[in-house]
Amino acid sequence: MSTDIVLIGAGIMSATLGTLLQELDPSLRIRIYERLDRAAAESSDAWNNAGTGHSGFCELNYTPQRPDGTVETQKAETVAEAFEISRQFWASLVREGAISPSFIRSVPHCAFVWGNDDVQFLRARFAAMKKRPLFEQMEYAEDRATLDQWMPLVMEGRDPAELVAATRMPIGTDVDFGTLTRTLIARMEARGAEVFYNYEVRDLHYFRNRDMPDMAPFWQVRVKNLSEDYHENIQAPFVFIGAGGGALHLLQTADIPEGRHYGGFPVSGEWLRCKNPEIIARHGAKVYGKAAVGAPPMSVPHLDTRKIEGHNALLFGPYAGFSTKFLKSGSYTDLPASLRLSNLAPMLGAGLHNIPLTKYLIQQVVQSDAERLKTLRDYYPEAQPEDWEQVVAGQRVQVIKENEKGDGILEFGTEVISTADGSLAALLGASPGASTAASIMLNVLAKCFPQQLATPAWQEKLTSLIPSYGQKLADNPELLRRLRQETAQALELAG
Ligand SMILES: Cc1cc2nc3c(=O)[nH]c(=O)nc-3n(C[C@H](O)[C@H](O)[C@H](O)COP(=O)(O)OP(=O)(O)OC[C@H]3O[C@@H](n4cnc5c(N)ncnc54)[C@H](O)[C@@H]3O)c2cc1C
Repeated sequence: MSTDIVLIGAGIMSATLGTLLQELDPSLRIRIYERLDRAAAESSDAWNNAGTGHSGFCELNYTPQRPDGTVETQKAETVAEAFEISRQFWASLVREGAISPSFIRSVPHCAFVWGNDDVQFLRARFAAMKKRPLFEQMEYAEDRATLDQWMPLVMEGRDPAELVAATRMPIGTDVDFGTLTRTLIARMEARGAEVFYNYEVRDLHYFRNRDMPDMAPFWQVRVKNLSEDYHENIQAPFVFIGAGGGALHLLQTADIPEGRHYGGFPVSGEWLRCKNPEIIARHGAKVYGKAAVGAPPMSVPHLDTRKIEGHNALLFGPYAGFSTKFLKSGSYTDLPASLRLSNLAPMLGAGLHNIPLTKYLIQQVVQSDAERLKTLRDYYPEAQPEDWEQVVAGQRVQVIKENEKGDGILEFGTEVISTADGSLAALLGASPGASTAASIMLNVLAKCFPQQLATPAWQEKLTSLIPSYGQKLADNPELLRRLRQETAQALELAG
C-alpha cells in the first residue's frame, strides 16, 4: 500500500498540517493513523487543555523581568504573532464555508497579581507592552471598582487593604480545540483523506536503494490494527509524527540522526471544575496569575471561563502532577522505555539542573484537598469545596535535549525535528501548543516542502489563506489592525 502523506495521530497538529496540505495541493493522497477510536481524544480534547488562545496577553511567564526592573516583551510578541496566523487561517476556512466559527469566542485575558513586588512587576510589564502594536488594547487597573467589574469572583471576599493589580485584553479568546480538530478532520475526509482509527503506528523504516537512484526513497510505516490484531505496512515519501506524547517513541523508532539525544519529561495535570451554574455564569474572563517558585511555566494557575461543546464551564488549575505515562491513555512504562544510551546523559543532566521543579512536582502530587482549595481561594476567596470537582487534564511531555556544551536541558516550548531531505518531521513538546498550530505547520512546510513552497501556486494560496504570510505584524501596525478587524468579523469575535 502506498500514499503521498502519512500523518500519525489525529490531534490538532495533524489536522492543521493535513488541512494546509489539502488546500495547497488537493490531489495529495493523505492517510491519518490514530491509535484511539476518535479524533482529538488526547491533549487536543477541550477538557484536556485550557483552551486559551495563547497570545502572550495574560501569561506572565512570557514576559521576564530584567535585573533593572524593566520587562522583556519579545517572547510574548512571538506567541501573539503566531496566534494571529492561526486566526487568519481559521477565518479563511470560515469564509470558505469549511468550518463554523462556533469553536472560538471572545473571552478577555487578564493577568492578576497581589503584593508589592508583583504589582510593581505588572506595572512595568504593562508600560512595556502597551507601547507594542500587538498589545495596544491592553488595560491596567489597581482600583477596586474596575477590578470588581472585570473579575467579581476574584475580588469578592478579598481583604480591602491588600494591594492588587490586573491587566485586561478584551480581544482574548477561548478555543475549543477538540471541536476544531474533529471538524478539520471530518472536512479532510470529505475531501478524500483516509482516517484509520484504532490503528497504532509501531515502526518507521526509511528505504533508499543506492543501486537504483531513479527509485524514489520512501518511509515504510508499520501499523497495528488494534481491533482485529494484525499488522500492515504503508509506504509514503513523507511522514509527519503528530503523535503528541507518543512522538518521542516514534522518533526513536525512526532512528534518524536529527532525533538522537532527545528525551522527554512527562508532566500531568488536574483541574478543579465548577459544578454550580450560578457561579459559572458570574465569571467572564481567563484570569492568569504568577507561577509558584520551581513551577513549570505551563502550571501557572488560572481561573478560566470556557465554552466546551456549546456548554459554559469554569475551570481552575492546572495543578501539576507526575506520572511516567507519555499519553493520558499511555503506559506507565513510557518514561523508562524512552531511555536510550544516546539520551541518558541529557536526561540525567536535565534532572540535576531542575531540582526545584522536582521538589515542586513532589509537593503538588502529595498535596491534600484542603491545600488545593487554598490555592483556588487565592483566585476566588469565597470558593466552597462542594461547588468543585477534580478532573484529570491532558498529559504533556516536555522536551529534554543537549545544548552546545553537551548539558541536558529541559525545554518548555515545542520543537520541530526533521530529516535533512524533508521526508519526515516530528513535533515534540506542548507549549504554547494548539494555539500556534498554524505557524508551527508553516515551519514544517518550509522544512519539508521547500521546492513546492517556492512555487507561485503555493505562495499565492498561502497568502490567500494567511494574508500576513511572510510579514511581521509587530512591525506593521496598519496591517495588524486591518487583519484583526477582518478575522474578528469572520470568527464573530470582539474587534
Ligand atoms: C493541561 C494542558 C493544558 C493546555 N492548555 C493549552 C491552552 O490553553 N492553549 C493551547 O493552545 N494549548 C494548550 N495545551 C497544549 C495543547 O493541548 C497541545 O499542544 C496540542 O493539543 C497538541 O496537539 P497534538 O496534535 O500534537 O497532540 P494530541 O492532541 O495529543 O494528539 C496526538 C494523537 O496521536 C495519537 N497517537 C499517539 N501515538 C500514536 C501512535 N503510535 N500511532 C497512532 N496514533 C498515535 C494519540 O492517541 C493522539 O490522538 C495544553 C495541554 C495540556 C496537557
